[in-house]
Amino acid sequence: MSQRFGAHVSAAGGVSKAFVRANSIGCDTMQIFTRNNNRWVGKPLEPAEIERWRSAQAEFDIRPIPSHASYLINLGSPKPDLWQKSIDTFVDELERAEALGLLGVVLHPGSHMGQGEDFGLERIATALDECHARTSDFSTLTLLETTAGAGHHLGYRFEQLGAIRHLCAESERIGICFDTCHVLAAGYDFRSAEGFGSVISEFDEHVGLEHLKCFHLNDSKHDLSSRKDRHTHIGEGFVGLDGFRHLVNDPRFREIPMILETPKSKDLHEDVENLAVLRGLLG
Ligand SMILES: [Zn+2]
Ligand SMILES: [Zn+2]
Repeated sequence: MSQRFGAHVSAAGGVSKAFVRANSIGCDTMQIFTRNNNRWVGKPLEPAEIERWRSAQAEFDIRPIPSHASYLINLGSPKPDLWQKSIDTFVDELERAEALGLLGVVLHPGSHMGQGEDFGLERIATALDECHARTSDFSTLTLLETTAGAGHHLGYRFEQLGAIRHLCAESERIGICFDTCHVLAAGYDFRSAEGFGSVISEFDEHVGLEHLKCFHLNDSKHDLSSRKDRHTHIGEGFVGLDGFRHLVNDPRFREIPMILETPKSKDLHEDVENLAVLRGLLG
C-alpha cells in the first residue's frame, strides 16, 4: 500500500459533499469539520445525510477520515461553565464521528489559562474521562494534536501528551495527531535525517509510536521554537522539502494518513500543488 495523502476539505452543504471535493483534487484521505467549528451548538446530523455519507464512503477510496473538533472547546479551562460546555461539545463531536464511522476527532488538548501546566493536564484528563464515560461503546478515537505552545496551550511537549494519556482511565481511546508545523514551532528540529530520527524516538519514548494515528502536513511560516502557529505551503516555510522527505518515506508511517491544512483559495489549486509536491518526495 502506498502512502495516503489528503487535505482538510470543506463539508459545506452537508458532510457527504466533502467526498466529491476531496476526490476532485486527488485525495486518498481527508479531514472535515462535522459541524460549524465556531459555534457551541451544531445542527444535528440528519439520518438522510448519514445515509448519503455511507454511500459516498463506499463509492470513494478516501480513508481513514478524522474530523477536527471545534476551536471553542477548551478541556483545560479553569472556568466551570466553559469547561462543562467544552465537555458537552466534545461529546457531540465524538457522537458525530461515531455516526460517520470516522477514525477519530482531532482535538487541541487545551489551555490552562494561567493556572499552571499540572493543573491543566489534570483538568484535561478529567474532562476526557467524562467524555469517554458518556460514549463508552464508541470506537472512534480522541486524537490529541501536538501544538505550537502559544499562550497557555498544552500539548507542545511529547511528555504532556504522554501524561494526559496516562492520567486517563480509558487511555486506549486516545491517539495522537502529529502536526509538522506545530512540532517545529514547539522546538523539535526534525529537518535533518538525524534530527528526524531523534525527534521520532523522543515521541516513541514519551508517547509510544503505536499511538500516532494521523499527521497534519503543514509547512511553518515561523522558525524553530517560535511557538507560533502559522501554516504555509509545503516547501515554502521553515520545515522545507527535506523536512517532509524523511517523514513521507518512513515505512513506519505507511498506514498513517497525512493531511494538509495549508492555505487555499476556492478552486483548491493550492491543495493540488501541495499534494503533487508531497507525492514527488516519495521514493
Ligand atoms: Zn493541525
Ligand atoms: Zn496549526
